[in-house]
Amino acid sequence: MSKTKERIRDSQLRYKQNLGQNFLYDEDLLAALVACSGVTQEDDVLEIGPGSGSMTKHLCAAAHHVLSVELDERLIPLLQAFMHDKPNFTLVQGDVMQLNLPEVTASLRKPLSVVANIPYYITTPLITLLLTCGLPMKRLALMVQKEVADKILSKPGDDGWGMLAVRCQYFCEPELGMDVPAHLFTPPPKVDSAFVLLPVRETPAVAVKCEEDFFRVAGAAFALRRKTMTNNLCATFRMSREEAVGLMSQAGLDEKVRGEKLTLEELARLADAYTAFREGRA
Ligand code: SAM
Repeated sequence: MSKTKERIRDSQLRYKQNLGQNFLYDEDLLAALVACSGVTQEDDVLEIGPGSGSMTKHLCAAAHHVLSVELDERLIPLLQAFMHDKPNFTLVQGDVMQLNLPEVTASLRKPLSVVANIPYYITTPLITLLLTCGLPMKRLALMVQKEVADKILSKPGDDGWGMLAVRCQYFCEPELGMDVPAHLFTPPPKVDSAFVLLPVRETPAVAVKCEEDFFRVAGAAFALRRKTMTNNLCATFRMSREEAVGLMSQAGLDEKVRGEKLTLEELARLADAYTAFREGRA
């Protein structure tokens, strides 16, 4: 049994399912994940949910500095004891969804890397938060459910193509790091997982006049599946059919195309047409 697993067992700590506590103890896997994340001695790392500290220890060996955010107060004394001899480690107790991440990571070198075996109950809001909170990031390397990884990597028209894929592919160039079977976690989750790599693009995948409008139009595209984009524009933006058909035509799109089929480039053209329309209406 690994030393970290023994320590958790000896502390008689019960894994909290509602906090997504599925820990990793396999040292070979942890070393492989940190190698796969691409973190080097130049990098400062934000880790979300260090748990027992098993991955944190490997990250501290690979990186310049590691700042870990852990919600579960019971784990704080264990982590402090386990990591006491690591001068390049900072522990913050709190809910990652409530913290001001740019402020919390103010002392870290930028752009930073985010590496984490994340709690699955906050997967989509957490990825959205990381990508939109203004944190200068080089890359994200995240353990997610296999099904979520498939969504992040999906292409227009695939079943998984939706807001998560659009957001991730707009800001990053996602790729599969490695598949991780459920039995390697303690306790094992119901489904297999995958470690996804999201190197952040220097500039977003498509240029748009207004980023907020781009995401609003993308939201409209997936609002009602199997409906045409024209119908979704009418429903989301309360515009007439004539106005919606006009925007589709300005974007060079067939008025009968379904929103879920649109590529990033097509969504960007439509978003620009919408921005011009909105500004004209104001
Ligand atoms: N990194 C450890 C590992 O790989 O063994 C633990 C990963 S476990 C999947 C997720 C961790 O995130 C747990 O330690 C859990 O307590 C913590 N956590 C859950 N919700 C959180 C939140 N909102 N903010 C910060 N940490 C959270």
